[in-house]
Amino acid sequence: MRFTILASGSAGNATLIETARAAVLIDAGLSARALAQRMTDAGFPPARLSAIVITHEHADHVGGLSALARRLGVPVFIAPATRRQLRLKEKDESGIRWADPLAAEQPIIIGDLALTPIAVPHDAAEPFAFTATAANVKLAVVTDLGYIPAHVAARVAGCHALVLEANHDRDLLRASAYPWALKQRIASRLGHLSNDEMARFLREDFDGNASCIVLAHLSQRNNHPELARLAALQSLRARHPQRDWESIVAVAPPAGLGSWRAL
Ligand SMILES: [Zn+2]
Ligand SMILES: [Zn+2]
Repeated sequence: MRFTILASGSAGNATLIETARAAVLIDAGLSARALAQRMTDAGFPPARLSAIVITHEHADHVGGLSALARRLGVPVFIAPATRRQLRLKEKDESGIRWADPLAAEQPIIIGDLALTPIAVPHDAAEPFAFTATAANVKLAVVTDLGYIPAHVAARVAGCHALVLEANHDRDLLRASAYPWALKQRIASRLGHLSNDEMARFLREDFDGNASCIVLAHLSQRNNHPELARLAALQSLRARHPQRDWESIVAVAPPAGLGSWRAL
């Protein structure tokens, strides 16, 4: 299995996972044209895509969904409540191949890849994180959640790679020019993961087996890549001092990783 992040953050999210017999895009948060271009830039012909899987209906995750799904003709896996919330016009809905609806804890099989949706606390209709497993290799993609409940931590256990939200620094958010209501939303239990909560999870609830950790969905205004990375490194070093975390922890820029991570 290998994966790359094509886009990360409030301007758009998309993660491409490829195995021997499948290629799946988790979220389609850029325009279809931009997504196709970034796949091509990554050396991946868009026509090779097997399916699109959607975490939730926020615009930064579905912006290019309709156009990309119709252009490529691939099945779209989505929760029923999420699909309703898209409120697609008839012309944007027609021609999309909707796959069997997603449900929490019910794995879907695409080629040699098993994807399991995990319910997460976020202000959306039916938001999911995912684990992706193929040939005994496991990747977890966990973004857009206010905190990490025990059942999410349990699902992430044993993963070889982890894409984990590090949305904001609490002090930067508090001091930012965002309207009060928006700050409350982001910081709430149904909002986005702070560096503190990300670091707490890595220190207290993470088994430390992963060979690749990518911090994702960083706020450009209320976070800084080095702040997020330092918070993660401090936690991981405190818990598992024997590992070389410098080489394991990376931060996804808004424009994506620009390279593949092989597992
Ligand atoms: Zn998001
Ligand atoms: Zn969201």
